Amino acid sequence: MDQAEKITWLKQNTVLESLSDETVGAIAAAIQEESVQENRRLVLEDTIPPAVYILQAGRVESYRTSQTGVATATSLLPGAIVYLKELLINAAAEDTTITLSDCVVWEIPRAEFLALTQQYPEISQTFSRSLATELELVSAQLAFERERQSALRPYVVPKVRRGIVGTSRYAVRIRQEIKKASGDRQSVLIFGEPGLEKDNTAALIHFGSDDRKEPMIQVNCNTLQPNGSELFGRGNKLGLLDWIGRGTILLNNLEAIPVELEEKLAQLLATGEFTPIDREGTTPTPRPCEARIMMTSEKILPRLERGKLVGHTIKIPPLRVRKADIQAQIEYYLSLLCRSRGIPKPKITPEALRRLQGYDFPGNAIELQSLIARALTQSDGAAELTEEVFWSASLKNRRFRINLLNAYPKLRQFLRSPWYPDRLNYGFTLGFFAVVVAVLMWGPQTRDRNVALNFFWAWWWMLMLAAFPFVGRLWCAVCPFMIYGELAQKFSLWIYPRKLQPWPRQEAEKWGGWFIFGMFALILLWEELWNLENVAYLSGCLLLLITAGAVIFSLLFERRFWCRYLCPIGGMNGLFAKLSMVELRAQQGICSASCTTYQCYKGGPQKGEGLETGGCPVYSHPAQLQDNKDCVLCMTCLKACPHRSVELNFRPPGIELWTTHKPSYAEISLLFLLFGAVFLHRLPEIEQQFGLNLQLDNSGIHAGVSVLALLIPSAIALVAHALIRLFNAKPRPFLELAYGYLPIVLGSSLAHYLRLGLTEAGRVIPVTIATFGADTQNLSLPIAVADPAVIAFLQGVAFIFSFWLSVFLTQKIARQPIWNLLPQHVAMAAIGSMLWVITVGW
Ligand code: SF4
Ligand code: SF4
Ligand code: SF4
Repeated sequence: MDQAEKITWLKQNTVLESLSDETVGAIAAAIQEESVQENRRLVLEDTIPPAVYILQAGRVESYRTSQTGVATATSLLPGAIVYLKELLINAAAEDTTITLSDCVVWEIPRAEFLALTQQYPEISQTFSRSLATELELVSAQLAFERERQSALRPYVVPKVRRGIVGTSRYAVRIRQEIKKASGDRQSVLIFGEPGLEKDNTAALIHFGSDDRKEPMIQVNCNTLQPNGSELFGRGNKLGLLDWIGRGTILLNNLEAIPVELEEKLAQLLATGEFTPIDREGTTPTPRPCEARIMMTSEKILPRLERGKLVGHTIKIPPLRVRKADIQAQIEYYLSLLCRSRGIPKPKITPEALRRLQGYDFPGNAIELQSLIARALTQSDGAAELTEEVFWSASLKNRRFRINLLNAYPKLRQFLRSPWYPDRLNYGFTLGFFAVVVAVLMWGPQTRDRNVALNFFWAWWWMLMLAAFPFVGRLWCAVCPFMIYGELAQKFSLWIYPRKLQPWPRQEAEKWGGWFIFGMFALILLWEELWNLENVAYLSGCLLLLITAGAVIFSLLFERRFWCRYLCPIGGMNGLFAKLSMVELRAQQGICSASCTTYQCYKGGPQKGEGLETGGCPVYSHPAQLQDNKDCVLCMTCLKACPHRSVELNFRPPGIELWTTHKPSYAEISLLFLLFGAVFLHRLPEIEQQFGLNLQLDNSGIHAGVSVLALLIPSAIALVAHALIRLFNAKPRPFLELAYGYLPIVLGSSLAHYLRLGLTEAGRVIPVTIATFGADTQNLSLPIAVADPAVIAFLQGVAFIFSFWLSVFLTQKIARQPIWNLLPQHVAMAAIGSMLWVITVGW
């Protein structure tokens, strides 16, 4: 190429066109042509460029490496002049330049180029002007970008929160639809119930598409002004549709969009144009919209549907129809939460999983997530999440309750005070129990001379049974067995500090009930065959045996494992407590909305009005209690709760049995064992009333007859149920119906102990004096003994009342016509009549 051709080429292909011919000629004269092979570096960034380069043929790329982000690269074509600015301002190279192909490069060495700029000031002036214009352009762009960022910032969706997990056909379909929508720029409508994270589905589409580098914003339609100026702009003021450019705008909750905007939205979807809001005196013209429109809604909008205005419509099914995915979702949420909290991921027990799979999740995925988050917080780093820590805010049947703590503030004050139950327990019961056991072991051995024996059999049993319908399992709050268990636990931890074993819950849930049944059966036989009622030291041994269980298991396991799963007296208390007219519960709304500490369950230091406690001793959460058997009424949760959520409710007695109850075979076995115990306690009366000779003097026969006596009620009940199955097309399972016998079991047991209580409890003064060796025969001491007719009357009332309650309860549980359940009612009448004969007499 000769000199003239070089000048023409430079003027036609480079930015040197604005220079005079003379100056361009001088530049052309200074050019040294060089052929450079592909992939050769011309200049390294941050070094002083040795020359100005003009790309005459080929392709080069200039780029800057970055330590913190992606490298930025620019591809340059023939005509590009590189490092002109650096040489003019004497700076190091901003970019590295390499050849992408074999190139012809014109070089003007640094010294010669600087000499030219001296000789031709036009070069510096022209490029200073051009640099100034460039700078102005860049700062205008920067200002626009800054304004754009600040307009979009409140609405920006930074990333996808989570994916779609699961293998159900629904999950597969949603994933396919997301993929399809990511492949183009058509509008998208995602609809489904609340709580399904539809906005996250929209984000999955945006960030899975080629537009992922563009911004995505989310606008809630219920916050839009009726004129829509935020979206469409007003006069010269830009709206979000302008600012977003080629990004994605998500209109959330479309069903709440102001009606005035429906038409404008329909226009936008149909034509891809929108009209800004006019200022007075102006007539705005429609503007093209580059943005991609996505919408979420809880329902299909007829207007959009009719006009076929939406490119993709995706329906997200509710969680209750995707039960197959629940396990995968739980695992997924658990992983996300554990990672964000930096804790190891716990396992979820099969029982907890079943419980979650059986729940309908009206709040959908959001509810599942908050349930898991709550469970994680509540479990406090446990290796397993058991069903106790999963509780929802929508359990049914919270009706017909009066909170006694609101009605009687003094009661609340007392139950939160140190008097209940600690001062009572450690100030009185602890010592009193020791005296009772000592008197049983070393005092006179018969009931008419031993006040402890009198107290145990005549007072305690009668009062306990009579109290169940009123106060449920209250005994367990003041029980001496467990006071010794707690004391042993504290003392052993003081002597030998260690971490006690966590509860083997799965095994305990499975076998605990049968352990209680077995223990109770053995105690009943022991009581009958060794005449415990009238042998003081054996009664003392019985009390010590239960205390030993409480102590041993308190030394091994955390809190009160014995009370929750193994104690035979606790098993009976739990069973009869179901009939109670009081219950302790928490307000699930408050717990799920306001609580993050779950101090009632976990314990912890004082917080607000919540006192310092060690948490529920039987690992129950008051908000998820559905059965009185799981609460020992210790009021720890009432003291610990900072949100006043815990309630002590007055309720219809036994209501849980026909609402929230979960039956168990071990429990109904215990129920019939307690029923049979009334027959067992009345063997002499059976002989007498039915004219039998059972040869009870022979201990082998006595044991056999005792076992048979225990089996009488269950045998009759099973025959009755066989008849129900025969004549009822849709019989309810025996497991459920058996709880209908519960009132009559309690009534019969009470009737049995009424005789002992009302004839012997009133003799407490002479018996006390006799205990200490005094002869009371010649003393005239006050006694109170009920007339046999009064006792018979009260026993009769207990039988009749409890029988009708049993009939009522059976009907409530079964919810079937009375004729369908007649065999069970007749069975209850038959067993009740037999017991009447042997307890009250003819
Ligand atoms: S469960 Fe047993 S040991 Fe525990 S408090 Fe109740 S009666 Fe006492
Ligand atoms: S009862 Fe109180 S402490 Fe327990 S979860 Fe509810 S609000 Fe929290
Ligand atoms: S739920 Fe409350 S009252 Fe019941 S046992 Fe637990 S802490 Fe005690």
